[in-house]
Amino acid sequence: MEAILNLIKNGAVAVTVNKRLARRFQRAYDTLMKNEGTRAWETPLILPLSSFAARLREEARPDKPLLSATRAGALWGKIVEEDGREGTPLLNPEGVASASFEAYSLIREYRIKLPSDDIYLTDEARALKRWSAVYDNEVERLGFIEPSALFDEVIKYLKAGRAKAPERLVIAGFDEITPSESRLISALKAAGSDLVFWPGDDTTPAGSVTIRPMEDEVAEAIEAARWIRTLPEDSIVGVIAPDLRKYRGAIVREFAAELNPPSVLPGAEVHEVFNISLGLPLYSDPLVKSALDILSVGLIDEDLHKLSLILLSPYFAQSMEEGLAFASIDAGLKKDNCLKASLFDLRARLGRAGRDAARVERWITALRSQRGKDAPSRWALLFGALLKETGWLKGVKLGSKEHQSLDALNKLLEELSTLDEVLGALTFKEAVAGLKRLASVTIHQAEVPDCRVEVMGLLESAGLKFDYIWLIGADEFSLPKAPAPNPFIPLFIQKEHNLPLSSHERELEFARRTLERVLRSAPSIQASFPKVTEEKECDASPLLKGLGRADETFIASKWPSSRLKDTSRLNVLSEVYADPSLVPVGEAELKTLSGGTAIIKDHSICPFRAFAIHRLKAVEVPDTELGIAPMKRGSILHEAMRAFWDKLKGSDGLKTAMEKKELNDIVRDITREAIKGVDVAPLSDKFLEMERQRLESLLLDWATVEAKRGDFRVKAVEQETEFILSGFKVKGRIDRIDEAGGNDVVVDYKTGTVQRNDWLTARPLDPQLLIYSMAGACGAVTFARLAPGECKFVGLSHEDNILPGIKGFENDSLRAKAWPDKDWEGLLGFWKTVIEGLARGFVEGVVAVDPNPGADGKADPCKLCELPALCRIAEYGTPHGNGEENDVEGDGDGD
Ligand code: SF4
Repeated sequence: MEAILNLIKNGAVAVTVNKRLARRFQRAYDTLMKNEGTRAWETPLILPLSSFAARLREEARPDKPLLSATRAGALWGKIVEEDGREGTPLLNPEGVASASFEAYSLIREYRIKLPSDDIYLTDEARALKRWSAVYDNEVERLGFIEPSALFDEVIKYLKAGRAKAPERLVIAGFDEITPSESRLISALKAAGSDLVFWPGDDTTPAGSVTIRPMEDEVAEAIEAARWIRTLPEDSIVGVIAPDLRKYRGAIVREFAAELNPPSVLPGAEVHEVFNISLGLPLYSDPLVKSALDILSVGLIDEDLHKLSLILLSPYFAQSMEEGLAFASIDAGLKKDNCLKASLFDLRARLGRAGRDAARVERWITALRSQRGKDAPSRWALLFGALLKETGWLKGVKLGSKEHQSLDALNKLLEELSTLDEVLGALTFKEAVAGLKRLASVTIHQAEVPDCRVEVMGLLESAGLKFDYIWLIGADEFSLPKAPAPNPFIPLFIQKEHNLPLSSHERELEFARRTLERVLRSAPSIQASFPKVTEEKECDASPLLKGLGRADETFIASKWPSSRLKDTSRLNVLSEVYADPSLVPVGEAELKTLSGGTAIIKDHSICPFRAFAIHRLKAVEVPDTELGIAPMKRGSILHEAMRAFWDKLKGSDGLKTAMEKKELNDIVRDITREAIKGVDVAPLSDKFLEMERQRLESLLLDWATVEAKRGDFRVKAVEQETEFILSGFKVKGRIDRIDEAGGNDVVVDYKTGTVQRNDWLTARPLDPQLLIYSMAGACGAVTFARLAPGECKFVGLSHEDNILPGIKGFENDSLRAKAWPDKDWEGLLGFWKTVIEGLARGFVEGVVAVDPNPGADGKADPCKLCELPALCRIAEYGTPHGNGEENDVEGDGDGD
């Protein structure tokens, strides 16, 4: 590089393949100047080739502006959208516009002529031709130069002597040169530039390579970060990902946690220790997104999730207290299963909650005044004013990255205001859609100072040298990439012109060339790949064949973790701490406890769950559901079953109804009554009728199961009961009690999965029936599993033949396995002890985070629990379970 810097010092212009390399050159040049003792020097011309061309064109023809990328994209998008409106509607207009505009640019770049006879073209290529013609006319009419014509324009001016070629030009870091770049370089040479290519024939030997198989992409990112911590602090490290898009999230998260542990703390303002070349669409920036969410809301009913995004946004609430109030309004709307809501609902709910609704009032007023069509520049101003009216960001303290996001949003509004000629007059909704489109094509990357750790894709690494490299994601699917031809250009044309991503051969050749260059870019290279990716087994890239491979038994602990949670855990382990884990229920609290048998059930599932729900009053905010929510469906079923047995009274009534063929009519009447008045808006009554038919069929299925029983009489339905357990009152409602052969049979309806295999253990996951067995002379307890095609009894019985499919306890397989020496009375006594023990644990204040693994050790109640954010179980990993689900949520029977 030294020779090149000397050329630059002597007046050469350097054009680079990308901004990153231009910055690297600039830094190296500044260092050279300082080392030579120079105190002030002229900034050399080091810039990407496209910026250099734009500069030459600007000097040659300042009167004819270049169409900006934003305007070009907006104009193309408008043409595609209008064409879709007139012809076949497009399913994804943004995706179509983006892919077709890329095809348009490729055609210009490679000087491709599509066949004039449309018969040789696909529908997509015909559309491309149509859109290109309209676009070219519009660009001409507006008096701009199209961006992809930039190089050809410069060539024209160089030939005409209107643009001046530099005497000496360094061309740096190009892995491959596109046809239009090649034409421009030739024209510069013809115009008198002395060309120097860098690095030219690079004779640097390839570095030593260690290949590391890892479990998955996250493990790769974690290991790469930990390895970086072991390197000398003044070394320059490159992390190069052939598929950076796939790895970006894991790298950002894991590198921050490992290389800059304090940065994970909420509100932390920390300096960056790595930079990453791939930005994200501005649309996905949280601050910008929250502004766009606000602008997307009109005066009509909106989908609730749109309002929820605003109510729960940290950029909308002006204080912690207001944020909690908004969250409670949001929870209220969800609890009422409002699928849609408007600003007027929001205003009314704030009023009812005794909150100031002035902000929403001003928002409504501002929206009312914005009607009709207007120019984008006018909308840009109004959007800014509207955001201010809603109080967005007021009282919110922004960090430096958020300030950059805000600047980017303001720039976006400026861009919108330049589109008057391109887009014409728009409605409010169209203007918001236009702004969102701009945000989705504008790539935003917060400015980060130069860092010693640089994360980049294969192309961005061109020309760069490092002390160490980690090649992440060097797997068989990414290196080389699978071809992905542009759908708007016929494949035979793409292959003929050797377009990027057009064939396996091209991608293999490109990957081979870039990999060779990467391997020469540092003396030491780690190359990792995931053993499994996207649920597929995966091997290292075949291009790494023959290079070193680390031991498969490589373990993470080789490079220790520096994450806050790991280091703090180590500290905890090294400290003696007496944790009583008891938070006893006081006398006064005991009287206020409510929650019925669910308290015992939750305590058995996990003591912390019971503590959080029944004592801390943690409440899950439900999701809204289209149609009937599961809870409501459960109560409709209970109501139908109650009416069924109120009418038939037992086995005699059931048999008679069956013999007289009256059962269908009875069930139809009962189900009609059960769903009467159920609100399923916006779905029609047809949906409700389908629900009724489903319920009718379930009841008839269940009747066939009941008909297999011997004689029984329904003694009680939905019976309220009370138990005093460890000094507190536990209320319950028994779905049904039958009398059969002198025994009470306790029945609990369940629509979810049921199991009884933990009924002989001290921690049954669903102890409800066990509690009810204490209500009287119990001869059997059973779930009535009510599921289409799977209706059956699942329980335990004192004697044979009380319930179909259930043997007497003496002969039950569960007893044979666990308790060969116990009888039914012993079982009831055991259950009493178990239930009282659980109740005592709850009252004495056992609050341990201790999810119940079930009788087989495979249950994982955390999977269905809504509290992991509160108990933070994930920080220690779920100790139990293999992912099998238990029906811990119950079946909506309200217990
Ligand atoms: S998520 Fe698991 S550990 Fe946490 S409260 Fe729920 S069941 Fe207990």
